[in-house]
Parts: sequence; structure tokens; C-alpha cells
Amino acid sequence: MARFTLPRDIYYGPGAISELKNLKGHKKAFVVTGGSSMKRGGFLQKVEDTLKEAGMEVQLFEGVEPDPSIETVFKGAKAMEEFGPDLIVAIGGGSPLDAAKAMWVFYEYPEKTFDDIKDPFTMPQLRKKAIFAAIPSTSGTASEVTAFSVITDYSTLIKYPLADFEITPDIAILDTDIPLTMPKKLTAHTGMDALTHAIEAYVATARSGFSDPLAIQAISDIYDSLVDSYNGDVEARGKMHIAQCLAGMAFSNALLGIAHSLAHKTGAEFEIPHGCCNAILLPYVIQYNSKVCMDRYATIAKAIGLPGNTDKQLVNALVDSIRELNRRLNIAPTYKENGVSEEKFKEKLDFIAENAVGDPCTGSNPRPIDVENMKKVLSCAY
Ligand code: NDP
Ligand code: MN
Repeated sequence: MARFTLPRDIYYGPGAISELKNLKGHKKAFVVTGGSSMKRGGFLQKVEDTLKEAGMEVQLFEGVEPDPSIETVFKGAKAMEEFGPDLIVAIGGGSPLDAAKAMWVFYEYPEKTFDDIKDPFTMPQLRKKAIFAAIPSTSGTASEVTAFSVITDYSTLIKYPLADFEITPDIAILDTDIPLTMPKKLTAHTGMDALTHAIEAYVATARSGFSDPLAIQAISDIYDSLVDSYNGDVEARGKMHIAQCLAGMAFSNALLGIAHSLAHKTGAEFEIPHGCCNAILLPYVIQYNSKVCMDRYATIAKAIGLPGNTDKQLVNALVDSIRELNRRLNIAPTYKENGVSEEKFKEKLDFIAENAVGDPCTGSNPRPIDVENMKKVLSCAY
């Protein structure tokens, strides 16, 4: 048995926020966002105005922090309960989108705790109270189309990757005007996150004939547009916004691999942005996995026009091209060059490797891995 799930509607293009007017018939909209970027860009106001034009009462929940906490989620869920929305709209990066998804679960089931929902694909049925629309502002996580939400427990420094098709949004709105306001570094990090999603999805054990074409198209579009997008090209920014969404559709169903297992743990321990961790790890993960899926990586290399007569040459060309991409995006290629001291790295190595082996993304990695090998892969990236 296998399943492939996507949102019901995807609206896209410049100014696509105004498509919220199609959600007529709803009475109360609860809008979740991050710090101030969406307000500064005028996008939050546009969301509020459009919902009101469609006849809805609107309540805002602002201030979701990057890598959202359990506390923020419960605060939002409580505010939802008091307001009683039949539509939830999340606008922002992966953090506010993920936080809003988790708030939605606890709004529908106030009696549940994190422990009740932390096992993958055990979530109760949602949509009894509200449906969910997501408007991404970064071009990376694709939370607007995925079955995932990453919430951090800061008392234990553990990131809970909640996973269930129930939390796949109903509606995704890809307004290509929004990523235009991203600073360069955020564009680089989130873009490499998207590339890692597509490459990991293409080799993951749950890949399928549905996810493969999405992953390959995403990889090819990201190679075509990420550097130009980083350098501020407007058309390339729009293309990246769509490409990261294709990658999201692929990995939401095909799942991911050990670049993400390690990125989840190293991101929290070393305070390095999620996408930057993936950018550092991806070349080493490809080298480790290529023992069992060299042909798949070779297919990727061919699809983006890299040179090579054998699968091995093609995989080497792919690894080199990722290093080159990192250079052009000014992403330092190791943890050391990203400011992690040797002492701290050594002190945390065992803990991170053990936790990464237990991460849900490890189960779908094409090549099995134990703690010793996880330590080796991670050490290479230092
Ligand atoms: P965040 O949502 O964490 O946002 C990072 C920063 O970027 C914030 O300071 C935010 O500002 C700012 N920002 C966002 N959009 C813009 C914009 N258009 N212009 C200017 N500034 C902007 O970033 P990500 O999107 O990278 O999300 C990372 C999170 O997503 C992590 O918690 C990660 O674990 C998770 N994740 C989730 C996945 C999923 O499938 N659900 C997959 C992969 C990662 P402000 O707060 O002011 O808006
Ligand atoms: Mn990611």
C-alpha cells in the first residue's frame, strides 16, 4: 500500500495572495505569522484586507520565532480556541507555517499532548473545525505542501518532526512577489535546503513514479535559478519559489535521508540555520549513499547536464557541482568554517550521531547506517 498526497489547490504567480478571496463562505480567519518581515513587506496587510473583502472576521497571531517552540504552539492553539476560526492562514517562512500546523492540531484536539501526536502517521482526523491555507515567504522548506511540522522543545533541545498527511495544508498560495524581499543569506540557505529535499527524495526508499519527476524537475530548476536568485534576479526568485514547492511535493511523499537527520541535530546543537547544515552535509551524504544508489545520482547528474562517461564519474561531478554551488552562494563548506570549535564538535559528536540514527529521516535513507558510520559522515563534514 502506498499513498501520494498533495494540497487540494495551489495558486501561484505574482500577487497570488489575492486568491484568498476564493475562500468565500468562511466566517472567521485566524492568521499566523513570524516576526515582522511580512508586515514590513505589506503582505500581512494584504492578507487581512483580502480576507475581510471575502466577508471574514480576522484575528492575527504574530511573533512566531524561527525554529518555533512548544510554548508558542500552545499559546497559538489557545488563542484559536478563544476565537473559533473555520479557516487558518499561515504566512511566513517554514517556522510560522510549521507552528500554525501544530496549533491547528491542538485547536482541533485541545486534550492532546505532544507525546500523543509525536509518532509518525498517528494523528487524529483534522478539519472538523477549520481548514488550512499556507503562504510561504521563503523558498526552501515547502511546508505549504508537506505533511511535516518541526517544533522544538527547548528544555531538552529536541526537535519534534511531526509527520502526518492530516497536516498537509488544504491550500497553498505561492505568491512570487513575497520571496523578493528575502536577504541574500536566507536565499542561499533556504535554496540549498530545497535542493537537499529534492536530491534526498530522489534516492529515498519511499520514492515512487509520482515523486521522481517532481524531484528531477525541482533539481534541474534549482540548478538553473538558485545562483541568479541569490544575486537578486527577479525572474529567478520566482522560479526558485515554484521549484522548492515541487521538491516539497516530492519529499512529502518520498521522505528524506541522513542529510536531514544530521541537519536536525546539528542545527539545534551548533545554532546553524537548517539549510546551511544541509548544504554542508549533502556532498558527504551522497558519497556515503552512492555505494547503494550510484545509478540514481548518476541520473540526476545527467539530467542537469554534468559530464562523465561512467556512473562513478557522474556522481563525482554531482558532488563537485554542489561544492561549486556552495562557493557561489558564499556558504562555507564545513562546520569548522561555520564557527563550530573543535572542542564543541568533539564533545557533541557521539550525542549527535546517536540522535541522528534515531531521527525519522534515517529510516528512508537508501543506505542503512549505524552510529559509527554516522560519526564518520559527520566528522568528514567538520
Ligand atoms: P524561518 O521561517 O525560520 O525564517 C527565518 C527568518 O527569515 C526569520 O527571521 C524571518 O523573519 C525571515 N524571513 C522569512 N521570509 C522573509 C522574506 N520574504 N523577507 C525577509 N525576511 C524573511 O525560515 P525557513 O523558511 O528556513 O524555515 C525554517 C524552519 O522550517 C525550521 O524550523 C526547519 O526545521 C523547518 N523545516 C520544515 C519543513 C517542513 O516540511 N515543514 C522542512 C524543512 C525545514 P520574520 O520572523 O520577521 O518573518
Ligand atoms: Mn529541510
